Amino acid sequence: MKIPFNIDLRDKVAVVTGGGGVLCGSFAEALAECGAKVAVLDLSKEKADLTADKINKNGGLAIGVSANVLKKESLEEARKIITEKLGSCDILINGAGGNHHKGTTTKEYLYKEDSESNEDLITFFDLDPQGVEFVFNLNFLGTLLPSQVFTKDMLEKEGAVIINVSSMNAFTPLTKIPAYSGAKAAVSNFTKWLAVHMSKVGIRVNAIAPGFFVTQQNHALLINDDGTYTERAQKIINNTPMERFGKPEELLGTLLWLVDENASSFVNGTVIPVDGGFSAYSGV
Ligand code: NAD
Repeated sequence: MKIPFNIDLRDKVAVVTGGGGVLCGSFAEALAECGAKVAVLDLSKEKADLTADKINKNGGLAIGVSANVLKKESLEEARKIITEKLGSCDILINGAGGNHHKGTTTKEYLYKEDSESNEDLITFFDLDPQGVEFVFNLNFLGTLLPSQVFTKDMLEKEGAVIINVSSMNAFTPLTKIPAYSGAKAAVSNFTKWLAVHMSKVGIRVNAIAPGFFVTQQNHALLINDDGTYTERAQKIINNTPMERFGKPEELLGTLLWLVDENASSFVNGTVIPVDGGFSAYSGV
């Protein structure tokens, strides 16, 4: 993997939740490339192992660990395994997250004629509380619980950091996805809260807010079967001054800067957009 610059993370242990996924898989690889021992945590052991194997084949040191960010016992179990095999956590990346179709409306706007029951549409009135709850839990609790479990090992450790993963939706909600937007707004808010709360024990907390990157979780929303952009993808491109989607490796400079004590020791409680200008553009 080509990383933008090297920082020295030898002797550091990084825990990356959602590390079996696209964005956080590349975060895990970059941290390993800089010398960190990496625990790749994912609900799917298979996906966690795939990322860890890739790192180990490239000369790094990583283990795949199955864990559910919504279950404290599962995280405690993972913490035990990680401490035994790699040592205690210095760097926590809270990357597991995502949306659910039951917290998503079919249309961008509500029209009077759609407000009666219609099997083909999920309107605002049909949003399923369990779907909404799932999304809030995955993104918000899924950030809070790993932070509770792993910061126990990070108190007053030199260079201890947490990086959360927020989203453009946290600044201005995207149409159709109120649950995901609200949940990511909560992640940004919590990033600031936790940075303040942890400031006396030397743990810095920041977040990256990625713009739009084509990954498993949004592929069907953005790319048609024939490879062309969907209407929604084209809208995103029209509102991104740089007129393209991001590539996962374009998040790595921000990640490494925020992780590195030498580079960002006074940066705390921030949410950094990496978005090709999306959040700066009013659309006019
Ligand atoms: P992804 O679906 O590729 O990866 C998410 C990973 O999280 C998956 O491997 C999944 O197995 C894992 N996961 C899901 N539930 C879990 C649980 N309960 N416990 C542990 N692991 C769990 O998604 P991605 O696009 O790489 O997204 C990574 C993060 O970036 C997410 O928080 C996402 O919301 C955020 N994000 C993505 C984009 C984008 O454009 N792709 C933009 C902004 C923010």
